[in-house]
Amino acid sequence: MIKGYMGIDIGSISTKGVIIDSNNNILASEYIWTKGNPMEAVKRLLTLLKKQIDTKKIQVVSIGTTGSARKLIGTMLGAVIIKNEITAHAIGTLSKYPDIKTIFEIGGQDSKIIIIEDGIVVDYAMNTLCAAGTGSFLSSQAKRLDIPVEKFGEIAINSKNPTKIAARCTVFAESDLVHKAQMGYKKEDIVAGLCRSVVINYLNNVGKGKKIQAPIIFQGGVSKNIGVVKAFKDVTGEEIIVDELGHLMGALGVAILAKNTNKERPFTFQIIDYPFQTKAVECEKCPNHCEIICVRQGEKLLDSWGNRCERGAIRS
Ligand code: SF4
Repeated sequence: MIKGYMGIDIGSISTKGVIIDSNNNILASEYIWTKGNPMEAVKRLLTLLKKQIDTKKIQVVSIGTTGSARKLIGTMLGAVIIKNEITAHAIGTLSKYPDIKTIFEIGGQDSKIIIIEDGIVVDYAMNTLCAAGTGSFLSSQAKRLDIPVEKFGEIAINSKNPTKIAARCTVFAESDLVHKAQMGYKKEDIVAGLCRSVVINYLNNVGKGKKIQAPIIFQGGVSKNIGVVKAFKDVTGEEIIVDELGHLMGALGVAILAKNTNKERPFTFQIIDYPFQTKAVECEKCPNHCEIICVRQGEKLLDSWGNRCERGAIRS
C-alpha cells in the first residue's frame, strides 16, 4: 500500500485539495468553488479526489487543513495539523522552488505578500480591505470596458504605452478610467494601465516597506492574467515566476506538513456528520459590515470566518 497525505485549503471563494506521496509528488488534485458553504465544498472535493486515486493501492494516512475554515474542516476530518495560509503557502512553494525569496499573491478578494530568507518566512502582510489591488477590481473594470476578463491579459501585452491610471483606490481608478476612455486613449493602453495600477496598488499596500527580492513567484487567480504578470515585471525590473499549479500551493504545503508530523490517522473518505450550529453575525465596527459566520458545538466556538480584518475576529 502506498501512503498518501492529503492537504485541503478552504478559502471563502475556492476550495483546493491535493493528495501527495511520501516524495511530495501530487497523486490527485482538485479546485472547486466554495459557494459560501465550506462543509459542502469539502464533501464535493473529497468525492472528486477519491475518484482520482485507486483506494486499493493508496491509503490516505493523514490530513492537514489550511484556509479560512481550516479549524472546522480540520476537526470534521480528524486532521493531524491545522495551519494558517502563510505557512502553508510558503511550505508548498518552497517544496518546488527552494530558493524563492518573495511570494506575491493576488486573489479575487484579497492579496498577500510573503518574504522568505533561507527557506524561512521572515515577514508577511495580508490585505483584505482594499479592492483596488485584487481580481474583483479587474473583473469589474473589464465589464465596464466591455472586454471579457480572460482577454484582458492578451490585450494588455499589446500596449506600447500603458495609460497612467490613478491607482490610489477603486473609486479614483474607476473615474480616471472613464475619463481616459472618453479622451480616446487606445483600449490596449487603458487595459495595460489598469494592470499596472493593480500592481502599483499592491506594492504600495501589502508590499509597503517589505524587502522584495528575486526570485519572485506570483500566485493566486490574478497570476493567470499575463497583463498583470508583465506589469509586475516592468515595475519591479525582475523576472516573475508563475507556476501553473500556483493555486494549489497552500494545499500542497499543508499536505507536506501533515506528512512531516509522522502522525497517522488513516482516512477512509467517510465523513462523519458533525453536529454543529451555524450562525451569521454582522460586524458593526466599520462601514464594511462584514457578515461573519460562526460555527459552534453547543457553547464552544469551533470556527468563524468572513471578517475582513482582525477587529471583527470572534474568539469565543
Ligand atoms: S471585520 Fe468589522 S471592522 Fe473589520 S472590515 Fe469587516 S466590518 Fe470592518
